[in-house]
Amino acid sequence: MTPKLLDAGRSERGWHRIQNAIRCPRLFAWKEIEGLKFPISSPLVNGSLLHIGLAHHYQRIKEKQTGGNPDDWLRPEEAIEALALKNAEESTLWLAAVPQIVDAYYAYVNNWLGENWRVLEVEEELRAHLGKEKHLYTQRADLIVADHNDRVWIVDHKSAYRLNSKTLRQHILDGQFIGYQLFGKAKYKEHFAGVLVNRVKLSTPYDFDRRALEPAPQALRHFVSVIEEGERRIARWEGKPTEEWPMALNNQTCFGKYGACDAYDLCRFGSEP
Ligand code: SF4
Repeated sequence: MTPKLLDAGRSERGWHRIQNAIRCPRLFAWKEIEGLKFPISSPLVNGSLLHIGLAHHYQRIKEKQTGGNPDDWLRPEEAIEALALKNAEESTLWLAAVPQIVDAYYAYVNNWLGENWRVLEVEEELRAHLGKEKHLYTQRADLIVADHNDRVWIVDHKSAYRLNSKTLRQHILDGQFIGYQLFGKAKYKEHFAGVLVNRVKLSTPYDFDRRALEPAPQALRHFVSVIEEGERRIARWEGKPTEEWPMALNNQTCFGKYGACDAYDLCRFGSEP
């Protein structure tokens, strides 16, 4: 059998949908309704390649631990190259990034030698129906493991250019991480230990850090109402032309810490040249 590529893609109705609807309805319309494709950035390419490498790394371990055949799946370095080749037409960034990400992956394995996790799930789509209207809400967990005490962790791989407490704290009030808490508690009950942020610094010298994310109990209590508000906003504008969806016009949203919003020029000048 030819080894497979584990390229699961986005979850069906995840946090990004709600986040975009709340952050800027116009951006939601460009991306989710019109399906506009914006140029992909280098951090996104690097993050995707790292994720596919780690997905194969842990899927192959899971096969070994459960009596399956690891060679049903590509080796991590092959998977990194296969994903880059699959997306090569989109941007030259994909193939250009392969050597560095493979190198970082080898350094990751070396750094975490002796890791004794039991792999429960890789790229698992978690699904729930939330709120009064039972909105479908999904999230794809990078990895779910049990530690030596049989406590269950949802692990999220994050590529970063700096590993410090500031880049960790930004995840505490991120809906993606609150959502993991919700799913983890519902699925694994008292066995659920929390969310581990598995950070990898992708530029040399590589660096690695894993730690449990501090809790945000108040945000967790209000999480479902945030999902409901996002869905209300989408329902309110759905079916209307994109130009009618409200614009954020907020200096932190339109020009954030990663630079201009993808739709900056569209919002500034319109779609006509
Ligand atoms: S540039 Fe601003 S208003 Fe336009 S889509 Fe982006 S966030 Fe919304």
